[in-house]
Amino acid sequence: MSEKKRTEISELGEFGLIDRLTSKFATKQNSTLRGVGDDAAVVDAGNGEVLVISTDTLLEGVDFDLTYFPLKHLGYKAVTIGVSDILAMNARPEQIMLSLGVSSKLPVEALDDLYEGVHFACEELGIDLVGGDTSASMTGLVVGVTAIGRAKRESVAYRSGAQLNDLICITGNLGAAYMGLHLLEREKRVLRDVANPEPQFEGYEYLLEKYLKPRARKDVVEQLAEEGIVPTAMIDLSDGLASDMLQICRASKCGARIYLERIPIAKQTSALAEEMHADPVVAALNGGEDHELLFTVPLAMQEKVMRMGGIDVIGHITAESTGAALVTPDGSDIRLKAQGFKED
Ligand code: ADP
Ligand code: MG
Repeated sequence: MSEKKRTEISELGEFGLIDRLTSKFATKQNSTLRGVGDDAAVVDAGNGEVLVISTDTLLEGVDFDLTYFPLKHLGYKAVTIGVSDILAMNARPEQIMLSLGVSSKLPVEALDDLYEGVHFACEELGIDLVGGDTSASMTGLVVGVTAIGRAKRESVAYRSGAQLNDLICITGNLGAAYMGLHLLEREKRVLRDVANPEPQFEGYEYLLEKYLKPRARKDVVEQLAEEGIVPTAMIDLSDGLASDMLQICRASKCGARIYLERIPIAKQTSALAEEMHADPVVAALNGGEDHELLFTVPLAMQEKVMRMGGIDVIGHITAESTGAALVTPDGSDIRLKAQGFKED
């Protein structure tokens, strides 16, 4: 019997694997405007409008730990994760669907809590839960979320539109969710054998909120529309600034220069990083799960972007040949590297 070649998934990395599995699927339908490769698929809806559709899966033990993740927050966060991909296309979220793999160790009341969080997020965002699926899981809890949104065809912001000299902009601040996760993990380790654990979170409430209950930045997409700005490229910051910036560079065939001292980092993020002898910049670059938006606009839009408030310009787009670099305060360049997938 001839031996079949066995390739380890780690040899390809996440993005290499997706490429390998999907590269043979050329699109056939005229209505499919964008398939695999962006935050969401884009489908022609007629009348100059498009629907954008995205799906995500959250697995217990991989994406969340129920020993410290309240189910109400998990429900809220699942909606944020789904809707954030819609917002990253510069589209308005309208509906979600939710699939559950339910483990028998959970009582019905726990699922009530999960759906209370889903309901809260849907109310806050003004979107409808329109379906889903429920089955039993032999492992842990599985939550799948599909989100649907709408946009004018010419307003869609793909990852692939960044142009030379465009400004690189970021909403909110980075690394807070990552430090929130580390705080929860630390308390879990410390309190493992304590009878009545009382975790110490004082002064770090913001970090916990950013990890457990991140808000989808619908306000940003609304403000962009008010200012008449269509970003040339946009992505949801789910994997960390380094990885997500490289995604824009790869899709737009460009390079980037990001100035380290311009990366917005919250006080609590720096404080906890210092306490844990970690580097807050590493948290911002590699942390992920911030669900802020990273986007590019033409240089001429600088004033309009600054007028929005809460946006930081952290660098600019360069030629592809220069690659993506992080510029340190002393002026030296560090090549941006992504975690989670292999470059080149
Ligand atoms: P995100 O982090 O924004 O949710 P991913 O990194 O999961 O996106 O996926 C990158 C792209 O690959 C997206 O366009 C997504 O739709 C697509 N994709 C991911 N996994 C699969 C799969 N198993 N089959 C088909 N397309 C996939
Ligand atoms: Mg995404």
